Amino acid sequence: MNSDAPIAGKDLDLIQFACRFLKDRGAVLEPRGEIIDALLPQELSAALDVEEYISLAPDTKNVTAPEDKKLYTIQFQSPLLDKIASLAGSKPPFLKLSLSFNYIKTQGFNNLIMEQFEFFKSKPKITGTGEIKTRYILLTCRFLAQSDEQKEGLLDFSFNIDTGALAPGMIDMIPSIEKEYQVKNGHGYTKKEIQHIHELINLYGPDAIEHELIEFKQSMNRRFKRDSLSLDEYYSALEKEMKESLLRTGISDKLTQEREAKIDMIPDELSAKKKDLLNKYSIKIDITPVAALAVTTPCVKVFVTLICGHQKKDVFMIYNPVTKQIDPMVCQSCGTSMYSLGLCKNMHLNCAKCLDQGCNMC
Ligand SMILES: [Zn+2]
Ligand SMILES: [Zn+2]
Repeated sequence: MNSDAPIAGKDLDLIQFACRFLKDRGAVLEPRGEIIDALLPQELSAALDVEEYISLAPDTKNVTAPEDKKLYTIQFQSPLLDKIASLAGSKPPFLKLSLSFNYIKTQGFNNLIMEQFEFFKSKPKITGTGEIKTRYILLTCRFLAQSDEQKEGLLDFSFNIDTGALAPGMIDMIPSIEKEYQVKNGHGYTKKEIQHIHELINLYGPDAIEHELIEFKQSMNRRFKRDSLSLDEYYSALEKEMKESLLRTGISDKLTQEREAKIDMIPDELSAKKKDLLNKYSIKIDITPVAALAVTTPCVKVFVTLICGHQKKDVFMIYNPVTKQIDPMVCQSCGTSMYSLGLCKNMHLNCAKCLDQGCNMC
């Protein structure tokens, strides 16, 4: 039985998330093509309000329901996934995975570095390599974007706990690696590391869901523009009407003054109304981790000297054997992960943006 076998389908991450959760709660899983059969402990089936024998599928297309089991689809907004996510939220399943490799690349790092990275006014020179252990965390988070409407969904991302660098592609590669999951009680991270994880979620989360929210943002923008335009039309019609009424004969001076004062107030009133509108359609994003997979793996630490004119700076890079790539480096000034980098005048590692806008460390 191998419940971690790669499963084809566009909602791969959702199925994996659901399987990780069910397995963590004691379910026995067996993949059968696109379908996964699950035998749930009684307590879990009661908590999820489903039968004890169920089948999961990414969607109902191309899949015929087995006769003896109820088929549940795992898609965004499918009721079973919602229940799993909310149960997971109350006790995030934390799985631990220790990887070992029969073979890890020992050379060719120079080519890889030159392929993946861009250096501004500096040159890298490899001075040595060494195999070390490092820790990654793969997180499944639930995001909630709130505006005039709301949108929620799941989001996966992974980063290196030891360096704080994003490790893109980890989640896609994990299914194809031979491994054994362990359910871990407690997480084994220090308080400071947990705080760091939350900082990283806040740092990388908004960019990671950018793509998911394109249509949502466009829709909120369209509504904002529409409502803003009708406000403009309303107030310009009002102003016109009031000005016309001033031209009528037989209006007392007092009334004229009152109306003129009202006309003068229109721009302020309009801008206050627009501010309300902007609040109504601005988007507040909340990201909560619902499941975590801690991965400990050997990796190669590549020692590099960056040469910039007559100055030198020693740094290191991490070759990740799961993605078979060098992890991005971390900007010393703003903390984001980067493939384009250079050194500020005081030799801090900077991303392109910090090189351009100034180093926060100086
Ligand atoms: Zn930066
Ligand atoms: Zn600096």
